[in-house]
Amino acid sequence: MIGDWISFGYLFSAVLFIFGLKKLGHPRTAPQGNQLGAMGMLVAVLTTVAEMQLGDGIEGWILIGSGLLLGSLIGLYMAIRVEMTGMPEMVALFNGFGGAASALVALSESWKYIESDELLLPTGLELEVVVVAAGLSALVGWMTLTGSLLAMLKLKGGVEIFGKWIRTPTWGPAWLNPIKALLFLSVLVLIYVSINDPLNSDYLYAIIGISSLLGVLLVLPIGGADMPVVVSLLNSLSGIAAAFTGFIIGNSVLIVAGSLVGASGLILTFIMCKAMNRELKDVLFKSFGGSEKEQVTRTKVGSDADEVAMMVDGAQKIIIIPGYGMAVSQCQHQVKEFADLVSEKFDTEVKYAIHPVAGRMPGHMNVLLAEANVPYDQLIEMDEINPELPEADIALVIGANDTCNPAARTDQGPLAGMPIIDADLANTVVIIKRSLSVGYAGVDNDLFYMDKTMMLFGDGKKMMNELNSAIKEL
Ligand code: NDP
Repeated sequence: MIGDWISFGYLFSAVLFIFGLKKLGHPRTAPQGNQLGAMGMLVAVLTTVAEMQLGDGIEGWILIGSGLLLGSLIGLYMAIRVEMTGMPEMVALFNGFGGAASALVALSESWKYIESDELLLPTGLELEVVVVAAGLSALVGWMTLTGSLLAMLKLKGGVEIFGKWIRTPTWGPAWLNPIKALLFLSVLVLIYVSINDPLNSDYLYAIIGISSLLGVLLVLPIGGADMPVVVSLLNSLSGIAAAFTGFIIGNSVLIVAGSLVGASGLILTFIMCKAMNRELKDVLFKSFGGSEKEQVTRTKVGSDADEVAMMVDGAQKIIIIPGYGMAVSQCQHQVKEFADLVSEKFDTEVKYAIHPVAGRMPGHMNVLLAEANVPYDQLIEMDEINPELPEADIALVIGANDTCNPAARTDQGPLAGMPIIDADLANTVVIIKRSLSVGYAGVDNDLFYMDKTMMLFGDGKKMMNELNSAIKEL
C-alpha cells in the first residue's frame, strides 16, 4: 500500500514535469510551466525522502535537512539577485551543478561498494548495468561540470577574457580532435575493464580525471557565435547524467526527469544548430570558416536623436531589431513606448524582427519584450520578417550586432554561414549602440559603415529616451 503511494508520488512528479515542459513552449504560459516543474521537483524530493524513511530509515536527518535548506536558500538568493543579462551564465552554472550532482551521487554509490568490499546492488539490477551506468554517469557528469564552468566563464568574460578563443574561427587546432577522441575512447575502455574489477577505485579516479579534461577541451575551442549550441548541449548532457544516476540508485523519477532534460536539451541543441546553419558535429569538431577578416580601424560620424526623429516622421514601416544591447540597457519599455508613439502619431506600421540567437539565451528577446507587454503578434521570427525588410523604411537596430552582421553571408570568420536579419536591405538603418565595437563573435560589422546607416551612439535606454522625447516634440 505504502509502495503504491510512493509510485504515485513519482508518477505525479513526472506528470508535472511533462506538463511543465509543454507550457514552457510559449512565452505566455512559460512562467506557469516553470512553476509546474518546480512543483514536480518538490514532489519528487519529498517522495524520495519518504521512501528512504519508510525503507531502511533515514539516519542523517540533519545532513539531509541542512542540504535541502542550504540548497534552497542559495537557489532563492541567486534567482532573486540574477539580472536578466546574467541568466545565461546562471543556466550554464546550473547545468554544471546538475552534472556535478549526478556525478557525485554516482561516486558515492561506487564508494559504498568499494568501502564495503562487497556489491550491494539495487534490487533487480545486474552488476554490469550498475558499473556501466556509474562509469557513464561519471563521464557525462564531470564533463558537463567542467564544460559548463568554462562555458559560464566564456559567457561572462566573453571577448574580453577569451578573446582569442572566442574570435578564432577555427574552433581550436585540428590536432585537438584526435586527442578528444582518444580521451573519450580511453574512458569507455576504463568503464569496460572496471566491469571485471568493480571494487578498484583507480579506474574510477581515472574516469573522473579524463572526463573533466574532456569537458574543458570540448568547450574551449567553441566560440564565435556557436556558444548557444554548446550551452543547450551541456543542458542535455546534465539530464543524461541524471538519467544514468537514476539507474544506479534505482530511482525512477530521476530516470524520467533526466531523460526529459536530456531529450528536450537535445531538441533545443538541434534548433540552435538550425538557427546557426550548422551541423552539431561541425560545431563540436570541424574547423571551418577560414581565417577571420582582418580588423580595420574605421570611423563613422554619429547622428543625434533629433535627426533620427525627423527620419522616423514619414516612415510607413519600421522594423525593430533588438539584440543583446537591449538586454544590457534594459530599454525594452522605452522600445515599446517608441513603437506606440510612432504608430499613434505617424500611423507607422511597427514590427519586431527576432533572431533565434539574439541576446545570450534562447528566447531572450521574446522574454524581454513580453515583459514590456509588446503584443506577441508583432514579434516576427527571422525567416518570416526577412522578406519584409527591403520594403521597410527604417530598420531600427537596438544593441544587435552579430545577428545582423552581413559578414555572415561570406564564408569567412566565425559568423560564416549563420543566417542573419537582413537589416542592410532596409531603406535606412538606424543603429543604437555605444560604439563601433564588435559583438559577441568578435567580427567587425560593415553595416555600421554603410551610407544609409545612422549611428546613434550611446546606452540603449538613454538613446531610446532621447529619441522618444525628440519624436514627442515634433
Ligand atoms: P551581440 O552580442 O553580437 O552584440 C551586442 C551589442 O550590444 C554589442 O556590439 C554592444 O556594442 C551593444 N551593447 C552592449 N551594451 C549596450 C548598451 N548598454 N546599450 C546599447 N548597446 C549595447 O548581440 P546579438 O544579440 O546581435 O548577438 C548575440 C550573440 O551572442 C550571437 O553571436 C550569439 O551566437 C551569441 N550567443 C547567444 C546565445 C543565445 O542563446 N541567444 C548564447 C550564447 C551566445 P557596444 O559595446 O558598442 O555598445
